[in-house]
Amino acid sequence: MVLRYFRRTVWIFSFTIASLIFAQNDKDYEKLREAMVKTQIESRGVKDEDVLSVMRDVPRHLFIDESLWPKAYSDGPLPIGHGQTISQPYIVAFMTELLRPDTHHMVLEIGTGSGYQAAVLAKLVHHVYTIEIVPELGRNAKAALKRLGYDNISVRVGDGYKGWPEEEPFDRIIVTAAPEKVPEALVDQLKPGGRMVLPVGPRWWGQDLLVIEKDERGKVVRKNTIPVRFVPMVRQEERKN
Ligand code: SAH
Repeated sequence: MVLRYFRRTVWIFSFTIASLIFAQNDKDYEKLREAMVKTQIESRGVKDEDVLSVMRDVPRHLFIDESLWPKAYSDGPLPIGHGQTISQPYIVAFMTELLRPDTHHMVLEIGTGSGYQAAVLAKLVHHVYTIEIVPELGRNAKAALKRLGYDNISVRVGDGYKGWPEEEPFDRIIVTAAPEKVPEALVDQLKPGGRMVLPVGPRWWGQDLLVIEKDERGKVVRKNTIPVRFVPMVRQEERKN
């Protein structure tokens, strides 16, 4: 009787301590995200309340290696392996705002990377289709998104230059690696009335972030926004060499 009581007390005590520790960590990360949104994102002019709220919500640290968690909410890109990076939080927020996402949208993302940008978008739209060329990154992102309970993201390992022909047309397309020219296959897979956001330019420097709009008649207009620096969008042939 006494032993049973003792065991139960120990169990309840351990459970309480464990939940306190975890709650403390979660709260800390929440505070870091709140600060990230204020000092890195709102301060640079991102205003869309839905975008800001999602940036406060999505746990960026859970998309990177645990050894980098202390830097998870700092103002820059971070390595995710295979020479690739998770984008700077401000860039993720800015591109998401430029995309003007809506709850009924079908979105295509090229360059899944860690899966973080896809997770941010998935909270704002109906479904995200995302393509990653490095098989291991694609697999890791898929596992992270599954662990976090996302059920409106499809991840495919493949070459983003081809788009996702089985699911086109898309309301929105976002590209998070930089091609040297706008990939025509992607413009073709954009719905009339649709919008695409992508960095374009030479490898490593001199890239611009473009917004491409396709009107109801299919006429395409492009606008430059800000200079950016993204990893290159590579071709499948290059990877084999
Ligand atoms: N959106 C990502 C960041 C992506 S970094 C995130 O939130 O973490 C750019 C990614 O594009 C890299 O993972 C790179 O492997 C991938 N990539 C490069 N060329 C590609 C292509 N042709 N098709 C699909 N993915 C590509």
